[in-house]
Amino acid sequence: MTKYIFVTGGVLSSVGKGILTSSVGKMLQVRGYSVSVVKIDPYVNVDAGTMNPYMHGEVFVTEDGGETDLDLGHYERFLDTNIPKFNNITTGQIYASVIEKERKGDYLGRCVQIIPQITDEIKDRITTAAKMAGTDILLVEIGGTVGDIEGLPFTEAARQLRLEEGYENTLFIHLALVPILDVTKEQKSKPFQHSVQELRRIGVQPDVLVGRCRVPMEDSIKKKISLFGSVPLDCVFSSYDAESIYQVPLELDKQGMGECITRRLALYNSKADWSSWIPIAESFKKHSKVLKIGMCGKYTKLSDSYVSITEALRHAAAKLGVQVSIEWIETTKYEENPSEVREMDQYHGIMVLPGFGARGTEGKIRAISFARENKKPFLGICFGFQLAVVEFTRNVLGHATADTTEVNPGTAYPVIDFLPEQKAISHLGGTMRLGAYKILLEPGTLAHTLYGTSEIYERHRHRYEVNPNYWKELEAAGLKLSGWSADKKRVEFIELPSHPFFLGTQAHPEFKSRPGRPSPPYYGFVEACMKSSS
Ligand code: GLN
Repeated sequence: MTKYIFVTGGVLSSVGKGILTSSVGKMLQVRGYSVSVVKIDPYVNVDAGTMNPYMHGEVFVTEDGGETDLDLGHYERFLDTNIPKFNNITTGQIYASVIEKERKGDYLGRCVQIIPQITDEIKDRITTAAKMAGTDILLVEIGGTVGDIEGLPFTEAARQLRLEEGYENTLFIHLALVPILDVTKEQKSKPFQHSVQELRRIGVQPDVLVGRCRVPMEDSIKKKISLFGSVPLDCVFSSYDAESIYQVPLELDKQGMGECITRRLALYNSKADWSSWIPIAESFKKHSKVLKIGMCGKYTKLSDSYVSITEALRHAAAKLGVQVSIEWIETTKYEENPSEVREMDQYHGIMVLPGFGARGTEGKIRAISFARENKKPFLGICFGFQLAVVEFTRNVLGHATADTTEVNPGTAYPVIDFLPEQKAISHLGGTMRLGAYKILLEPGTLAHTLYGTSEIYERHRHRYEVNPNYWKELEAAGLKLSGWSADKKRVEFIELPSHPFFLGTQAHPEFKSRPGRPSPPYYGFVEACMKSSS
């Protein structure tokens, strides 16, 4: 039977609930328990696919093709397990399903209400996720902040689940901010107290409290939180800024959190074995050699917009014993002032990131030319790969007006064009080529050397691809098409044999990168940056 751990957050968002949830999962995993995780996003969208990464952060693509919340990426990286798309529940999905049942006549004669029909649907989704995972523990992170109107039905469903599943089979962890006032330098527990009250108001008494603070919480603050939160002092923990996120589970467990949780859930015989995690976490300690990576993207003001990519770079750097300094570049500036692209010489490597739409595209193409001509290590992901093909077609093949039809539908040289199956699609949600697909790598190529095998699976999220009409011309001019879809109908990897490291892929290898086991293209890229810096 699966036991449930619910994680709620208070005071404000972005205090690190995703990292806390992942850390709790890790604490249980190292004690020999199997874990899976559900993320609840109380917004009305059906999934994260149509949301702006600038506001909501990256869209994380699961192995089975879900466009999900970025927290699923944290779970996968910490727990080294694939989370199915079913485990990202939104208000949109719950209502869509209840309304469909209502139309079918499943509730015939009854008035359909938030309690019980919506909460039943939520409970059903959570317990089904538990059955599908078949793990000892299912962690359920409830997104947003307690007190949010849209989150209420989910917290209510969790409250009911405690009643149904039993006290020893359910646990509530509440995380909230403990601010430090600039003027007095004092830690303040009042917002925390209020958020626990808010949770109690809806009938949930938390079992474990975690204060998110820049530094460890003082004893007096912990005592206040314990007293007002009505939780024993040995169930109050401090989540403070750590050297890397992978250190957080260790820091929390040192304070006795794993012990507290297993005791409370009556999980006995659970000695923690951190021996395989500690070297991984340690590898993320600061290293003296710093590599500057120039990141060309669109959403450069919120680093969460590309969190899987920045993590993949960090995984690679940690393994190689170096530090990456990730520097965001608004490429529109290279459009306004083309000669400014020369500033890119300061970077040890250049990445062009995934993206959609026209803004900044010409600037990205300039950045790619710079990398190609100046032999700077280059890694292009999805849109970055497509633009590398456009750049090559324009500047090496000499078709100066070549483009992707996403940016210029009327181009005379549509070297990147719609996937054939995309032509008839009108709905934008969940209709891209999504999830893991097999890729065949050509022996003797850089891609093949990096992966060390000719058959791989990587995740995808795109509508456009390299136009087959140009394959021959591109290869004849020196662009190696080094990876193919299983049916050989799509290009998946390109590279330039004449360049120290110039690699592009239609896939998103970052989604499968793990601490201690970095994604091969990212590892190869960082290694090439190291070489270019010496
Ligand atoms: N916009 C491009 C496409 O749809 C690239 C997508 C991406 O970078 N994820 O094919």
